[in-house]
Amino acid sequence: MIKRRLFGLLGMKLEHSLSALIFNSYFRRKNLDYRYQLFDLSSQNLHQFLKKASSSPLSGLNVTIPYKERIMAYLDEIEGKAKIIGSVNVIHNEKGKLKGFNTDYKGFMRSLKNFRPGVRSQTVVLGGGGAARSVIYALHSLGIEKITFFTRSAERIKRLKDDFSFVTGLEGQLWKENKIKEKSRKAGLIINATPVGMFPGERCSPFMIDFRMRKNVLVYDLIYNPPETRFLKEARSRGAVTENGIRMLIFQAIESFKIWAKEALDEALFLKTSEEVIHASLYNRG
Ligand code: NAP
Repeated sequence: MIKRRLFGLLGMKLEHSLSALIFNSYFRRKNLDYRYQLFDLSSQNLHQFLKKASSSPLSGLNVTIPYKERIMAYLDEIEGKAKIIGSVNVIHNEKGKLKGFNTDYKGFMRSLKNFRPGVRSQTVVLGGGGAARSVIYALHSLGIEKITFFTRSAERIKRLKDDFSFVTGLEGQLWKENKIKEKSRKAGLIINATPVGMFPGERCSPFMIDFRMRKNVLVYDLIYNPPETRFLKEARSRGAVTENGIRMLIFQAIESFKIWAKEALDEALFLKTSEEVIHASLYNRG
């Protein structure tokens, strides 16, 4: 008999997250006595929560903004890829030991399959946080090495460059709109890995796309709420192919479940359930 199990999402300001809706709908459809819960925590309570989590019925957690990097200090073990990336978005409670994994990079890689960007694509990554790290690792795994990332912090540039010294064409630059535009004009792939433009700040955009873009450029926004950010709207109006964060969200969730649960995941049903939940939540808003 499959016993009752608890999973959850750890982060801050989680009221708009769709993860609980997606997982709980899937569990219901599969008749599993599982539950997925949101844990909205302030940073002061993070360590205490994790101490208790190891001896609780919690089988697994997803981790989101702003804890993907700092949570690593509190875990018993970190899987190799997550260690290299420097960001954990999945925790598995393995008999009282908390082990960290990264499935964001896998989710991102799987979501790129439809587009197959060329390995010589000049790529711009906006941001230098946990998601940007996962994206850079995924791009490297796909053979894409000509990557310029932008952040507002010189310290982050240094850290990221040091940690990713194996990415031969990686360049970090301080956030300056004219520099971002200059690089983006020539880019074949532009990825927003900052939260700028996310609900309820959907009037914002990381930078204004008011120039001619390269033909067939793919502009990718990791944000999924709203499904079309201002950034993507502008890119589409300039002829870009665009992609939002929905497929990455679904694929990283699929890969998370594979870590937590021994029983096989019904991927087709998970995909169908996720798409229906996301559609009902994001596209049918009045
Ligand atoms: P994070 O670790 O907090 O990093 C955020 C990055 O964005 C940092 O580099 C930060 O700046 C930059 N940033 C924040 N506000 C900015 C602003 N006003 N102007 C310029 N840069 C700004 O967050 P994260 O975990 O990487 O998440 C980033 C985004 O990706 C979020 O929207 C998250 O929801 C999304 N995401 C989506 C998925 C998915 O499955 N679709 C998965 C992961 C993440 P500095 O470096 O300059 O300090």
